[in-house]
This record gives sequence, structure tokens and C-alpha cells, in this order.
Amino acid sequence: MRIGVLALQGAFEEHIKMLNALGVETFEIRQLKDLSEIPDGLIIPGGESTVMSKLLDELNIRSRIIECVNDGMCVFGTCAGLILLCKDTGDERCKGLGLLNCQAKRNAYGRQLGSFQTTEEFKGLGKIPMVFIRAPYVSFAEDDVEVLSTVDDKIVAVANDKTLATAFHPELTNDLSVHKYFIDMIKNR
Ligand code: GLN
Repeated sequence: MRIGVLALQGAFEEHIKMLNALGVETFEIRQLKDLSEIPDGLIIPGGESTVMSKLLDELNIRSRIIECVNDGMCVFGTCAGLILLCKDTGDERCKGLGLLNCQAKRNAYGRQLGSFQTTEEFKGLGKIPMVFIRAPYVSFAEDDVEVLSTVDDKIVAVANDKTLATAFHPELTNDLSVHKYFIDMIKNR
């Protein structure tokens, strides 16, 4: 199994460490040619969704990601990655990939609650630690989207058959379970 991590900007190294700890071969995606072969999975990390959206277009990577998903690749997005996966990002400066039939709300927790940690239930995994940093949440999810976790009645983790997204950063904890969940999703596709 090979999983590529989008390494244009943001917290990509932490994802690579998590995947390596789980024994998965990883590589960084910095330009279009890095996706010339379709990997089994792709991780879109946290960072700044508006900047990443612009870079996806400038580097012509956007349509290639969609093509790869249509050919069977699974995707996992955290925080800014979640925003980018949504059909509606709620911000015109950030174009969504449309891989999740969801609406995101960027910087949804306001200034004071910009960053916080909690432990909450994640479907199938039990209670796991969650780190939120200027996080979004999912303000609307269509019926084909499974809600995997909510915090204070806000949706913070969702999935469909090939796409997983969390508003929080599992890669900034010691808990490997969400990355393992993604790997299982790839194995079961
Ligand atoms: N606030 C960022 C955005 O809207 C996301 C923050 C993060 O990825 N930690 O893109």
C-alpha cells in the first residue's frame, strides 16, 4: 500500500510519521508528476485552505486528484483538508474538490475557542483525543455522507465510501486509530 501526502503547505510531516508508524509506504506530493501513478490513498493535511486551493490550481493538481479518486484512490483530509474536500467550502476564495457532499464552515469556533482539545466518541473507534486548531466544522451533510463524530452537536468527522475527513488533527496526538481507520477504508474499498 502506498499513500501520498499533499506537501504543498501545512502540517504534512506529522501525517507521514503516523503512516510510517503504521508501516505504510508514503511519499510527498509537491507537483503534478508526483501523481503520475495513482496511489492507494492521499492525505490532504491541515494548513490554510485558501492557499492550498490556489496552489492546487496553479500546479494543475486539482483535476488530477479528482481523476485519481474516480479511478479508486481514497482520500483523507484533516482541518483545511476537510474544507477542501467539501462541495461547498462556504468561502469563495477556496474552491472545494466536491468529493464530499457537505458544506463546511471555516474558522467556525471564533477567536477565543480557536484552538482546543477534547476527547470524544468516533464511530467504531470509541473515545479518541481530538486537537482543534482554527478548525472548521461541517454545517450540512447530504444523505450519502456518514457522520462519524460530533462535538457539542457540531459535525467534526464524516466519510463516504472513498473519502474521510476530520475537522480535528489526529496527527497531532499519539493516537493512531484514525489513520488506521483510513488504511482499513483503503483495504476494504
Ligand atoms: N483555518 C484554516 C482554514 O480555514 C484551517 C486550520 C487548520 O488546518 N489547522 O483553512
